[in-house]
Amino acid sequence: MKTKILLSLTAFALLLAGCKKDTAPQEPASSDIPNGTIPIVFHVLYENPADPIQNPDASVFRKRIGQINEFYAATLFPNAGSRKVQVTFTLATHDPTGRLLDEPGVNRVGYAGSANMSASEFLSAKRTLQARDKAILWDPNRYVNVWLFGFLVSSDPEQDENNVTGISYLPYCTTAHPLDLLVKWDGAITQQPYYMHGITLNNRYFLPHTSGGNLLDDEGMFTFCHEMGHYLGLRHAFSEPKEGEGDCDNPDNASDDGCSDTPKYDRKTYQASFYAGTLPYDRYYRQPCDGGELCLSTNVMDYYYSLRTNLTAQQQARIEHVMAYSPWIPRSKAATKALLENFTGEITDERPEPILMY
Ligand SMILES: [Zn+2]
Repeated sequence: MKTKILLSLTAFALLLAGCKKDTAPQEPASSDIPNGTIPIVFHVLYENPADPIQNPDASVFRKRIGQINEFYAATLFPNAGSRKVQVTFTLATHDPTGRLLDEPGVNRVGYAGSANMSASEFLSAKRTLQARDKAILWDPNRYVNVWLFGFLVSSDPEQDENNVTGISYLPYCTTAHPLDLLVKWDGAITQQPYYMHGITLNNRYFLPHTSGGNLLDDEGMFTFCHEMGHYLGLRHAFSEPKEGEGDCDNPDNASDDGCSDTPKYDRKTYQASFYAGTLPYDRYYRQPCDGGELCLSTNVMDYYYSLRTNLTAQQQARIEHVMAYSPWIPRSKAATKALLENFTGEITDERPEPILMY
């Protein structure tokens, strides 16, 4: 996700923000994963262990897991009208060898360069993984890998990632259970990732407000929910034209995220008008491509300026499809085995290009 932080949204905060508990469900002590549960491991990559931004306290991860659970349960912003998704995120209790983690869901790793490191290069599917990378790429059939580090700050605008808060890969689907706009790859059923398949979060945005700030301004919280949306199969709620195509040119005007209940809009024009100071309506509103009435942006898969409080019914359905059928999504041993045993197609050596989402 890319961000632009300017002003706070006090009015909406009064409407929407509630008093939230710092709760953190944890994976049960048994080694299997209950249905609908997604264990998460935060690989905290640091150079200076004393720096709380590089190496945050365990309470930060408990807070973020509590928030993402409430977000996907549609209770974080109870008046927003978001859809409840059947998923529970937990802090992983054990590492891949079965060793009990010192801190649930947290794997702290001294990693040279991680204080200022290119996230796109770290995630690149073309990169040859070193031993230190393989050690922090845990089995995606059992964990969602989240890597926390400082994204590259560079004077070269082509390289600079200072405004990037997080990046994630989309999941695959299989020929037996296809899903629009996901890459079909049966090979993932039998293979482990050959690249860093997971979510990267920029540690400069990750820490919660210390002085009880407005939840609607909490970039770390929204970024985590947004990138998890990508990881579970959601694309952006706005128009992302291919090279050479104009925005809003798709004649059916359905959203190109595969969800007709997230109105598509012309992001390029919105941004150009916003930066030129000529946006003819409030910056939290959008002009849908179909020419319909202006609508308030509430979807978590939109970019600034948006309330980001909501998931729609069709987004919920996409996530639940991915959780049921996509490879490299944590599920019980029996469910992982069933995915393989029920597979009747041909598995080849092809490796389709994975899709990276900001
Ligand atoms: Zn995104």
